Amino acid sequence: MKPGNRQEVCFDQELIKRYDGRGPRYTSYPTALQFEESFTTDDYRQNAQASNGSGRPLSLYVHIPFCKTLCYYCACNKIITHNAERVQKYMRHLGQEIDMQSALFDRSRKVEQLHFGGGTPTYLNEAELRALMAHLGSAFTFDQSDLREFSIEVDPRTVDTNMMGVLAELGFNRLSLGIQDFDEQVQRSVNRIQSADDVDGLVQDARGNEFKSISFDLIYGLPHQSVETFNRTLDIALEMRPDRLAIYNYAHLPARFKGQRMINEADIPAPQTKLEILHHTIDKLAASEYVYIGMDHFALPEDDLVKAQEDGTLQRNFQGYSTHSECDLVGLGVSAIGSIGNVFNQNTPSTIEYETILHEGRLPVKRGIEVDADDLIRADVIKRLMCYDRLRFTEFDSAHQIDFRSYFSKELERLEPLANDDLIGLSNEQITITPKGRLLLRSIAMVFDRHLSRVENDGRFSKAI
Ligand code: SF4
Repeated sequence: MKPGNRQEVCFDQELIKRYDGRGPRYTSYPTALQFEESFTTDDYRQNAQASNGSGRPLSLYVHIPFCKTLCYYCACNKIITHNAERVQKYMRHLGQEIDMQSALFDRSRKVEQLHFGGGTPTYLNEAELRALMAHLGSAFTFDQSDLREFSIEVDPRTVDTNMMGVLAELGFNRLSLGIQDFDEQVQRSVNRIQSADDVDGLVQDARGNEFKSISFDLIYGLPHQSVETFNRTLDIALEMRPDRLAIYNYAHLPARFKGQRMINEADIPAPQTKLEILHHTIDKLAASEYVYIGMDHFALPEDDLVKAQEDGTLQRNFQGYSTHSECDLVGLGVSAIGSIGNVFNQNTPSTIEYETILHEGRLPVKRGIEVDADDLIRADVIKRLMCYDRLRFTEFDSAHQIDFRSYFSKELERLEPLANDDLIGLSNEQITITPKGRLLLRSIAMVFDRHLSRVENDGRFSKAI
């Protein structure tokens, strides 16, 4: 099959209605809801130090929680402020955390991957960004080769030509631009106004500065969107030819996210319209040669994500799909999640608590989990299904020294109705995701989630579509 059509998707509305319940996106397994407060900073410290024996390279995630204005759809951990002192105070504490965390890891472990997320990392001014990168670069050992992936989430409203040059000079080689939608009415209704011309100018600047990859984030399901308006947004985006597109479903959960109460529910497209927008988007991106990686990610055939899918190094992580699966992830900043060896950990989500704990000279780890052998096996099942659309039993058995069909006999029984509905192919050799199942990957993965029944599914998860 030609690139772009490599992974067919079949829209079966009846099946989508039936199977598309709320469920995790499986950016980790177990998911963050299973992290426990009984996990202590001592547990984290011991695990981090023990991980040095592995020699695995490092990946750093740095959370910058500040934004200048509120986008009404937002579900991120952010602080809307114009108070420079507030930002400086956080940056001082972040610096302290960087020193404490870096002391746990051998300097021989190179940082192959770095991601600045938020909030708005580009809220920081040039001097603050320079200082932060210099601090990270002196505390950790940055990989200096071309293989490293240093990415930053960019709010186009906060970056100009000069700043794009600064980001390149600081060593970032990947950008993720928050676009969401180019339609003016949609932009007004979510309080995020940015012109297509400005975005185009930044893309040109990024190309001039030889960024390796430019990714656009779009959201469907926002107020006033229709197939026609979103089609125009896609036309504008495709003119700029980003290397990747992440197309997220807007989950309206106003009980959880206060800002969403500013959205007029009557303006939100009906589920049927959302489905049509998604259907049209997938078809249009396939016709423009983008490969559907899975869930919500699309990439040009020459992009590293597609190569990683081909060579078996694609993974799910907290940014969605990613390469560099071999790294230990160190989370820095408020609410940041780390993943080191067999442990997941998360910093406190409260900025006040984050700063207080660091002020007392302690690490701000709030919760975490040490996964057991069964979790690791299930995590690999979910990864294979979500990243590769296929799980071959013999390969899996030799990787984990188990007999898949007896180990998962109950799950295989629970998969039978899904096979009867043609969401998966189920044979004596393998499980495959069918074109009908590709949109319902979460529901298929949920069959292997042993923790799910213990989590009250009370709206904390969003729907896939
Ligand atoms: S969407 Fe991004 S820029 Fe907007 S409020 Fe949320 S974190 Fe801030």
